[in-house]
Amino acid sequence: MAGFRTLSVPGPTNVPESVRCAIDAPMEDHRAPDFPRLTLPLFEDLKQVFKTRHGRPFLFAASGTGGWEAAISNTLSPGDRVLAARYGQFSELWTDMCRRHHLEVEVIDTEWGHAAPVDELERVLEADTERGIRAVLVCHNETATGVTSDVAAVRRMLDALDHPALLLVDGVSSIASIDFRMDDWGVDVAVCGSQKGFMMPAGLAVLCASEKAMAAAERAAAPRCYFDFAAMARANDAGYFPCTPPVTLLYGLRASLDRLFAEGLDNVFARHHRLAEGVRRAVAAWGLELCARAPRSYSDTVSAVVVPADFDARKVLDIAYHRYGLSLGGGLSRLAGRVFRIGHMGDFNELMALTAIAGSELAMLEAGLPIEAGSGTAAAQDFYRGDAHHQAVDLQCVVS
Ligand SMILES: *Cc1c(COP(=O)(O)O)cnc(C)c1O
Repeated sequence: MAGFRTLSVPGPTNVPESVRCAIDAPMEDHRAPDFPRLTLPLFEDLKQVFKTRHGRPFLFAASGTGGWEAAISNTLSPGDRVLAARYGQFSELWTDMCRRHHLEVEVIDTEWGHAAPVDELERVLEADTERGIRAVLVCHNETATGVTSDVAAVRRMLDALDHPALLLVDGVSSIASIDFRMDDWGVDVAVCGSQKGFMMPAGLAVLCASEKAMAAAERAAAPRCYFDFAAMARANDAGYFPCTPPVTLLYGLRASLDRLFAEGLDNVFARHHRLAEGVRRAVAAWGLELCARAPRSYSDTVSAVVVPADFDARKVLDIAYHRYGLSLGGGLSRLAGRVFRIGHMGDFNELMALTAIAGSELAMLEAGLPIEAGSGTAAAQDFYRGDAHHQAVDLQCVVS
């Protein structure tokens, strides 16, 4: 196919030139005396991204799924009770992983499209008078449905009940794209992966553990080896790793952090919000709905667009991919055929969003959906144009 292919899936995201060039480096000795000059600042700078002062960042060669495993295996013991809300494919998979690690999972099933049900979590925790529940799992941004949950509200609820459970949060598709506050929200382990907001290839699980989580890790009896926080922390303190780290990805992370800080995290969040809002205007102009039910939980990194009930969204995905070289996200699990997802995360700008919108529009028209040609693209353009006066500062970042 001539010309660019367009990647608009909610991970992996587009890797900017500066990150790709940084990764293209010769191999070097990860036990060299000056290796910590690369690694120690990475750990310090990651604290800014997680918004933590005393939390400890970890980097494992793994995808986000490995990060989930690190979070639960370091802080819990077989037989421990954990409470999890399930409202999409990712919260479901993490819950399933807990079971396989012999944790006793109490699951609250919520209709997909809704956010973490704080009231229902509260009811279960309130009834837990013996304080047997050791951890609460929350998926901050459910990538399958395009729903962002209120982690701060979960923390307020835990504090109001004075419940000591750890708060373990999947921030894979939110951290570095959407506001995330490890310390303010009292998050005990935050899990992220390199291929979403960090704009890198997959391969680094990026985590952060609170002091409370590190203390829990000393008591936790779950079997762990590769993902052991203690061994990793000992080596990291000196700037090294217990086994061979993916050195080139560490260079990529350096470039990624430099880019995030040059734009400014608040500007990064504002850009994601603006791009997402343009996509949402397009969806409304098409006369379609988002999978996300409540406007306050609309995700700024991914939008899941619901197609009419008698229609298979896979047709749209096929045409977009084969005819226009546009990769959109499919519906996962029970949403297969029901939605297509537009990822607007990471190294993304207005014209990239418009490409995804225009491509979705073409594919929907060709698939026979009764939408008006150009309606979504025009609605997004109107929004981006009208919003332009807010962005004098960001403009420099987009251009540079
Ligand atoms: C992408 C993602 C993951 C991790 O998936 P990997 O493919 O293992 O990186 C976990 N949770 C959420 C919410 C995600 O979006």
